[in-house]
Amino acid sequence: MPEDIVDGPDPAPESQGEPQGESQAEAAGEPVETPAQSVTADDSKPEIHEISCSNCGAPLAYMEGEAVITCEYCGTTTMLAGYDNIVTVESHFLLPPKVGRDEAIGIASGWLKKGFYKSKDLPNKVTWRKTEARVLPYWIVRCTGNTRWSGMQKRTKTVGSGKNKATKEFWEPVSGRITEDYTWPVYAREDTSEFWGIRNIEPGKQCVFPDWGKFIFRFGGSKRAPNKNLLEGKMDFSIDELKKANMHEHIINGQIIQDRAESSARNRIIELHQAQAESKATKVTDIDTTIDVQGVDLVYLPIWELVYSFSGKDYNVLVDASRQEVLSGEAPVGKWAKATILDIIFLLIAAVFAAIGATSDGGAAWPWIGAGVFGGSAIAYSVWTATMKE
Ligand SMILES: [Zn+2]
Repeated sequence: MPEDIVDGPDPAPESQGEPQGESQAEAAGEPVETPAQSVTADDSKPEIHEISCSNCGAPLAYMEGEAVITCEYCGTTTMLAGYDNIVTVESHFLLPPKVGRDEAIGIASGWLKKGFYKSKDLPNKVTWRKTEARVLPYWIVRCTGNTRWSGMQKRTKTVGSGKNKATKEFWEPVSGRITEDYTWPVYAREDTSEFWGIRNIEPGKQCVFPDWGKFIFRFGGSKRAPNKNLLEGKMDFSIDELKKANMHEHIINGQIIQDRAESSARNRIIELHQAQAESKATKVTDIDTTIDVQGVDLVYLPIWELVYSFSGKDYNVLVDASRQEVLSGEAPVGKWAKATILDIIFLLIAAVFAAIGATSDGGAAWPWIGAGVFGGSAIAYSVWTATMKE
């Protein structure tokens, strides 16, 4: 067992962006010998360590800070839960990958032409620049959150009548209970920005990002991630299943151990219930949340991280290789979507001018001029759009 397994919180992030010798090789994913004397030379280099798989004995290389390590030969996951505390993760699942590179691009292309905001022939005009398979580790905390809260609600009532009528504020005690079951996902790595789109998978986060370019009337087009059960469709972890899809070499080790994932889920649920209680009272004076954890599972999610370019810009799409759907994506808004939005706005303004013109007694000309300008501009924009390149 190596002596340099770090107990407790991970050290400060290693310096990034200054590749120097060893770290370059690591970035390329090439195996590197464990340095004989690890700590002395340069603390800023990310170290590579090695342990043996507790099941098959194969050497498992892992980066400094990683603590949930899956053997790519037999699929056993080992957790380094502190000095001298190495455990095998038993509750260990996989969402089986069902699509390879080409099918992932197919799914992303289907998504690129779907909906009002995207141009129908967008998939024919993009270049796929990057396709990366990754198998990402998530802890799923199965639990029930129970909250009792009480507080005060500000209300108003009308007192008196006639001239003495007035609105008065008063406070009323309110209380409530929140009980909900969760399969709360905790991404098992510290840095959610090292791969594109990881944060966007969390329930409630924005996951669809329209690119409006210079267009100023930016109505709609974005979407938030649904509250999905990541355990749905799971199977017992199987390295063979990953090998079939050629994804076994793309397993990402976790950095966050089970205990920390559990307490992170607890904190997030406490925050969520606090926010829910606060939405029901002007002031929450008392709140108590208990969280009953039924179990914590490790589940691996296979994804395709794709990058395409369109008219000189790069866009990202994240495809769920198991559910065969786009989890998160960026896309340029089509020219006809913009024209439709602009036309609706301008024609509404033109209609307002026309209504003023029709009802004004004096027969003023300006409302009709206004109606003409906005109506004419709407038509002109459509004509210009038709001649414009997408
Ligand atoms: Zn093994």
